[in-house]
Amino acid sequence: MERALCVLAHPDDVDFGSAGTVATWTAAGTEVTYCIVTDGDAGGFDETPRDRMGPLRQAEQRAAAAECGVADVLFLGHPDGRLELTLDLRRDISRVIRQVRPQRVLSTSPERFWDRIGASHPDHMTTGEATLRAVYPDARNPFAFPELLADEGLEAWTVSEVWLGASPQANHAVDVTEMRDRKMAALRCHVTQTSHSPDLEQFVTGWMSQTARRFDLPEGRLAEAFHVVHTM
Ligand SMILES: [Zn+2]
Repeated sequence: MERALCVLAHPDDVDFGSAGTVATWTAAGTEVTYCIVTDGDAGGFDETPRDRMGPLRQAEQRAAAAECGVADVLFLGHPDGRLELTLDLRRDISRVIRQVRPQRVLSTSPERFWDRIGASHPDHMTTGEATLRAVYPDARNPFAFPELLADEGLEAWTVSEVWLGASPQANHAVDVTEMRDRKMAALRCHVTQTSHSPDLEQFVTGWMSQTARRFDLPEGRLAEAFHVVHTM
């Protein structure tokens, strides 16, 4: 796998769900790009003025990406908390897929996770659905969004597989035990989101060890889980 693209709704989504997995990919020599659909300007808990929040969270996400070996971070600038499944969103994600030409795309599940409702933020499900529609059929169909080819010279591109986080039907776990420190370092870069949680490490490690147990990994291991979908 040469290139992977991670498409997530908010700055910090990739780090909570997948930073360990991304770190294993970059360690193996895969080039990873992050495409963050909103600037997360509706998030945060402090008195930061709202117009400062977007730029701050972009900077936090770039720092967190660096902790996992990712230098390429794009922001689409859609409104946080008000994301809708539109043709504009599909085209924006299709454009990035054709620019990056990844073999693998990581996103969030479009399905609601009834056991962990917090994972199914509407922006997450919308991003997952728009990303799947961009992977199939938009990005691979030269006649979909013809302006991408005519005006920008972006040829059709077929993504081979999609990894969906926060899925009610996860079918694959990645052992990220060795990447625990990098994941925690990435999460701590999101100061506006995580600095108020003194037990962040405890609860993130708790999820990952539960996931490892669910997939029968040996005692003491940590894992992140995905619904892997083959799209060719
Ligand atoms: Zn989110």
